[in-house]
Amino acid sequence: MAEKLSAVKGMNDILPASVPRTEKLPDSALWQWFEGAVRGVLGRYGYQYLLTPIVEPTQLFVRGLGEVTDIVEKEMYSFTDSMNGDRLTLRPEATAGIVRAMIEHNALYNGPLRIWTLGPMFRHERPQKGRYRQFHQLDVEALGFAGPDVDAEMILMARALWRELGLVEGSHVRLEINSLGQPDERRAHRQALVQHFEQNADALDEDARRRLHSNPLRILDSKNPQMQPLIERAPRLMDFLGAESRAHFDAVCAALDAVGLAFRVNPRLVRGMDYYNLTVFEWVTDQLGSQGTVCGGGRYDGLIAQLGGKPAPAVGFGLGIERLLLLVQELGLPVPSGAPDAYAIVPAGTPLAPVVVALETLRAAGLRVVQHAGGTEGPGSMKSQFKKADASGARHALIFGADELAAGEVTVKSLRDGGGAQSRRPLAAVADWAAALKG
Ligand code: ATP
Ligand code: MG
Repeated sequence: MAEKLSAVKGMNDILPASVPRTEKLPDSALWQWFEGAVRGVLGRYGYQYLLTPIVEPTQLFVRGLGEVTDIVEKEMYSFTDSMNGDRLTLRPEATAGIVRAMIEHNALYNGPLRIWTLGPMFRHERPQKGRYRQFHQLDVEALGFAGPDVDAEMILMARALWRELGLVEGSHVRLEINSLGQPDERRAHRQALVQHFEQNADALDEDARRRLHSNPLRILDSKNPQMQPLIERAPRLMDFLGAESRAHFDAVCAALDAVGLAFRVNPRLVRGMDYYNLTVFEWVTDQLGSQGTVCGGGRYDGLIAQLGGKPAPAVGFGLGIERLLLLVQELGLPVPSGAPDAYAIVPAGTPLAPVVVALETLRAAGLRVVQHAGGTEGPGSMKSQFKKADASGARHALIFGADELAAGEVTVKSLRDGGGAQSRRPLAAVADWAAALKG
C-alpha cells in the first residue's frame, strides 16, 4: 500500500461539518458565514476587494517588516526558486504585499484607496490552539489617508463586524489602543527605555538582552511574567508624544467616545511589525488563553516610502480568522447551519425525468435542495434514504414514490418540529408551493 500522506504540521484542512475530525477547528460553514458578514460590512464602509500573490520576493518582507522583527528573524517560510535562484517567501502577513501592489500599479495616482483581502498567511511558529503555521487573515487597508477619522473608521468597522457576527464588544472582545507617536518621539523614548533596561540589566531575559539595542520597544511586548515588574516601571512612550501626535490620538479617542465604544489605553501595546506609527490597536478576548488577540492594526505612514513608493500615509488591520471562529464556537453563538431546505428521497427504479424537472424548478425558486443519489451499492432503501435526509439537517423530505408520480405529485414531509406532518403537492405547479418550504 502507498504511504499515507498528511498535511504539513501546523497547516489545516477546513472541512464541511459533516466530516468528523479530531482537532477542534471551525468548519467550512462557519467560514462561509464569516466571509458573507465581511463582504456585507466592508461593502457598507466603501472598501474594495483585491487579491495579491501568496509568494513574494523575500526582500519585500525584510525591508517592510524590519530585519529584527520576530517574523523576519525566525518565522518566515523562505526558499530559493530552483528555476532561477530567486529568493522567495510565503507571505507572513498581507500589508507588505498590498503596498507592493499599490506602488507597482501606481494605484494612489487618482487619490486614496480603501481595500481589503482575505487569505492564507504562513509563519513557522509552534502550533497550538489558535496558532498555526498556515492561518488566515482578513486584512483591511486604507491608503493615502492621514487623519484620525480613518483610524476611527477602521476600529468601528471591526466593531460593526463583531455586531454582525453576534459578538458583544466590551465582553466577548475588548478594544485596546495606544499611540506610538512619530519617529523622532520614538527615538527620544527609545533612549530613555534603553537607559532604564541597562540600569536593570540583571533582570533582563535572553530575548530582552538581544533586543536591548536592536529593538528595545519590543521588550515591552514580552510575555515573560518575570519581566513584567521591570516593564511596568519603564518610561511610557505616551509621555514623549508632541502636541500633534497627542491631538491625533485624542481625536481617535473622541470619535470612539462619541459612538459609545469603550476602550482601554494600553501604553505597552506595541505590535509586532516595525512599520507602525501613531495609532495602534488590538481587539482582544479572554476566551482563547494566550492566543487572545483576534485583530490588530494601526497606522503605518512610513511604509509606502520605505518600499519605494511616493510617500503616503496609511492605516490597516489584520484579523485572525481561525481565532475569531474559535471564539464564536467557544461562546456557542448562533450560526446559520447551511442545511438544505429539502432532501429528495428517490426510491430505486424511479424515473429520473420528473424528479430533475421538479428539483430544478425548486432550486430556480431559490431553495436549497439535495437529491439523494446512490453510491456503488445503488440508491439504498427508503429507510437509509430517510436517515440521510435527517442527517442533512433538511427541514423537509420530498418523496418521489411510484404512487405519487403516477398521480403527478410528490409527498412533502416535515422532518423538523416533531416532524411527521405530510401532504401531497402537484408536480405541475411546483412554483406555487416552493416558497412554503423555504427557511
Ligand atoms: P501574536 O502576538 O498572537 O503572535 P501577532 O502580533 O504576531 O500575534 P499580527 O501579525 O498582528 O499577529 O497578525 C494579526 C492577527 O493574525 C493576530 O491578531 C492573530 O489574530 C492572527 N495571527 C497571527 N499569527 C497567527 C498564527 N500563527 N496562527 C493563527 N492566527 C494568527
Ligand atoms: Mg506573532
